[in-house]
Amino acid sequence: MPHTTRRYDTLAAATSWKPVPNGDSRMEITEIFGENILTLQGLKERLPKSVWGELDKTVNEGKPLNISVADAVAVAMKDWAIERGATHYTHWFQPLTGATAEKHDSFITPNQGGGAVAEFSGKDLIQGEPDASSFPSGGLRPTFEARGYTAWDPTSPVFLVENQNGTYLAIPTAFASYVGDSLDHKTPLLRSIEALDRQAKRALKLFGVDEKRVVATVGCEQEYFLVDQEFFYRRPDLMTANRTLVGAKPPRGQEMDDHYFGSIPERVLSFMLEAEKELYRLGIPVKTRHNEVAPSQYEIAPIFETCNIAADHQQLLMLTLKRVAKKYGLECLLHEKPFDGVNGSGKHLNWSMATSNGINLLEPGESPHKNMQFLFFFGAVIKAVYKHQDLLRISIASAGNDHRLGANEAPPAIMSAFVGEQLEDIIEQMLNGGVKESKKGGLLGLGTPVLPDLPLHAGDRNRTSPFAFTGNKFEFRAVGSDQSISFPIVVLNTIIAEAIDELCTSLEEAIEDEPDFEKALAEVLKQTFSESRDIIFNGDGYSEEWQQEAEKRNLLNLRTAADALPKLTDKKNIDLFGNYKVLSKREIESRLEIWAEQYVTTLTIEIDTTESIAKTMVYPATVRYIEELSTAVKQTKDLGLDASGSESMLQTVNNGLNDLGRALGKLRDVQKTIEADKPVELAGEYRGKILPVMTEIRDAIDFLERYVADDYWPLPVYREMLFVK
Ligand code: ADP
Ligand code: MG
Repeated sequence: MPHTTRRYDTLAAATSWKPVPNGDSRMEITEIFGENILTLQGLKERLPKSVWGELDKTVNEGKPLNISVADAVAVAMKDWAIERGATHYTHWFQPLTGATAEKHDSFITPNQGGGAVAEFSGKDLIQGEPDASSFPSGGLRPTFEARGYTAWDPTSPVFLVENQNGTYLAIPTAFASYVGDSLDHKTPLLRSIEALDRQAKRALKLFGVDEKRVVATVGCEQEYFLVDQEFFYRRPDLMTANRTLVGAKPPRGQEMDDHYFGSIPERVLSFMLEAEKELYRLGIPVKTRHNEVAPSQYEIAPIFETCNIAADHQQLLMLTLKRVAKKYGLECLLHEKPFDGVNGSGKHLNWSMATSNGINLLEPGESPHKNMQFLFFFGAVIKAVYKHQDLLRISIASAGNDHRLGANEAPPAIMSAFVGEQLEDIIEQMLNGGVKESKKGGLLGLGTPVLPDLPLHAGDRNRTSPFAFTGNKFEFRAVGSDQSISFPIVVLNTIIAEAIDELCTSLEEAIEDEPDFEKALAEVLKQTFSESRDIIFNGDGYSEEWQQEAEKRNLLNLRTAADALPKLTDKKNIDLFGNYKVLSKREIESRLEIWAEQYVTTLTIEIDTTESIAKTMVYPATVRYIEELSTAVKQTKDLGLDASGSESMLQTVNNGLNDLGRALGKLRDVQKTIEADKPVELAGEYRGKILPVMTEIRDAIDFLERYVADDYWPLPVYREMLFVK
């Protein structure tokens, strides 16, 4: 009888993994931090004063870059990179796939004597021309014009990528089509930074504060899973879809809560230390590491930075985790839901605004004046979130994140803002004709009769809210672990810029009638909170009551990406992005098409992989087991013994296999009824028609996993993948 014992070999290999000794375990953080990036400070030291002055104007004031300056900068960069062993350079960009892309060119130019010199000009630095035909353009680039342009982003430092056989220089760039339409994530991000800066500075002026620049700050908490590669390569679903498409729940899941914040397993710690070392060298300020809720789930979080740098760093962080994990025989899974029935992974995006002097605009201040200002910006965020729930939901919409949102572990798909009991109380009192007293102790006196006291520390914690105020920043918790954070930041920056803009206008008008600034502000804030209070919710976001309450409040409940995405091109959104020059109508339409297409492609891969696992792995294993059971039944009977045990087992397994067959048949039938050809409509059809059948197929397979002989089962099971560390 042929037994499938290969799975046990896999298990043996995974459990006997031995570390490769790598000698020196010392790490001088301050010495290595940033050694693989050329910062503006580093450039300054390498540039003549006049050139530096020009570059500084470009970076800090947005002045166009002169080609002779670019030439000088290019030489400085090239010298720096070559001193560190680099042979090539690449324009590093972020196409709308959500990943990063690069095409390498050597610094080498042959000279007449048959030798070669290293060259890198200002033109090479500022602009690249990769063949863009294979990147998604959503109709923005006619096929006859395959060219795309990459353009240097001087606000993000260049960095070195090292391999044991060589090193190259990576230059962060934006990526656009021949006619200048953005084909990437960076361009709108940079534009949204400008929009927010303009409006925030205008608001600060009303408060009598003159600031050079205001920029959004972002810090992300990245969750991920680690599984042994031995298992990974035996799971076609992990390899193609980044998540398990089948697999029965382990008998012991996360119920014990013994993993969360537990001591980090040895191999995992080694991996983390090496990954962090690389990140430090890239100047990425990683700060926190710990075990997460699910077995084999972990978190890494850097200290916040300005949002453009944070977005680049977030991409590098994901790449580094994936790359370094392999060195430890592990695979890093960034998918939002790698294991059904086990906690999924998110990426908490902490967002605030800071002035160039490092003053956090969402920090309740120490003087009445500062607190009025705080309430203004806080109010702007609430107003923005209320008006643009759809955009926030769209910014995190993906096939992967759908498995997380709304399941009882992650924020619901309904957008709401948690503000804490004290702030809610203050808002209520403002709405009811001024603040009399504050509910709780530990408050910061505003010393004004018109405006309320503010909590010194909003210590409240609510894990069920998609968007929570956590004392001096907002935490957007619904972001998916696998996604680029750029578009969520673009949305936040733009909707809040608009809200600030509108509040400024209201305040300017109010001041004309009511010369007392405080009273005028109180009136404007009252108006703001009364319009948008419905978005505030401090209760349990997982509860059924909230679903009903949210419906009563007319809040959007866009359950899946297929429901959310089509709203991207609503007039409201086209106007918003157009007004603040962040995305043109064409650019928005192309994004809708690309993201809908990605949704459909993801599902198509999942369908094909599930089908193939069912037919080529589960079916054969089950049939073999049925054969063995039938023989047992027959022989038992021949011996004149009671065969009821094996008979009922045979019955059960056979029924399970029939269920699987029926579900697969259903899938074929449903696929024939898919009619749409536009990606957005296709997405809707896939969601509505195919997803339910996929669940049936999975249920049938998971059922069989519980009954088919363990040594026949061809796929590594949850208990192995999650508990071998
Ligand atoms: P947790 O949410 O788990 O309690 P923390 O509150 O310490 O963790 O911080 C989470 C993340 O928020 C970190 O990346 C941190 O740097 C970031 N953060 C803190 N302050 C700000 C801010 N003003 N703007 C943006 N991000 C911030
Ligand atoms: Mg957090």
